[in-house]
Amino acid sequence: MTWKNQGFKLDTQYNRVRLSKGTNMKESRYAADYILCEYTLQTDDQTLDAVESIQTVRAVWTGQQWELHFVCKMRVETPETPGEKTAGVDLGICNTAAISVGDETLLYPGNALKEDAHYFRQQGYETEGENGPSDHAEWAQQKKSRRQEHFLHALSKDLVQQCADRDVGTIAVGHPKNIREDEDWGRHGNKRLHDWAFETLLSHIEYKAEERGIDVERVDEAGLKTSKSCCECGTEADSNRVERGLYVCENCELVANSDLNAAENMRATVTPNPSQDRSNGCLAQPSVRLFDKSTGRITPQEQVVS
Ligand SMILES: [Zn+2]
Repeated sequence: MTWKNQGFKLDTQYNRVRLSKGTNMKESRYAADYILCEYTLQTDDQTLDAVESIQTVRAVWTGQQWELHFVCKMRVETPETPGEKTAGVDLGICNTAAISVGDETLLYPGNALKEDAHYFRQQGYETEGENGPSDHAEWAQQKKSRRQEHFLHALSKDLVQQCADRDVGTIAVGHPKNIREDEDWGRHGNKRLHDWAFETLLSHIEYKAEERGIDVERVDEAGLKTSKSCCECGTEADSNRVERGLYVCENCELVANSDLNAAENMRATVTPNPSQDRSNGCLAQPSVRLFDKSTGRITPQEQVVS
């Protein structure tokens, strides 16, 4: 169901939207001729501008609840000339994102998505009654969605910003991998959440990069062995791949964060001379950027976490 500009009225002062029920339903003397909905704004800088420019409002059934989607016309600045560099991005579970721009690496550690999913799933299960999810379970579900949405926005925004600051013109990003049974992600429900989160993260990265004139290439990781190959010497390893998040190469003795190793391999898939602009040690000393749940912002961390 879609409302065009005559069909809805926005009240930005009280964060409400009035949706017209259309002419045929006005007949009923019980019903108001509009539906009043309140909305909450995410604390994204662009959100306020976007709300002013809403073109249509769509009601979408997600399978669990109705959602209102506001479709906005965004003013996309003519992008400044993008840089020449390529960034390789690895999205994963232990580290939400690992980036390599060759001479520098960045790490977004932690598994905020996993923690949250676990906490709110517990809440959901514990309160589920005979008649399906209780109000509390629905509350947990909605709160989880909002928090994840926010996290994904903050992360994608910071990631694209960091790339732009480093003269990146192309971002090569692979699809998530390492979904293993023993990490509790292989089970059906979890995997679906996981796929949803990463697909959302990918699309956020894509449109935020596009606004800055940066290309995003989705690289199909199947068969690439980005996580099994050494980014220094190319040796493929099965047995020595990962020890507590470290990639240890028996051939060249590289010891690196395994996600950064994968990110660097990802970068190599679209860079002609991947090792050209690499200085030693960047894999061992990534810039670490942390998501602060209380402020919802991503900030650099001085100490490298092991
Ligand atoms: Zn090696």
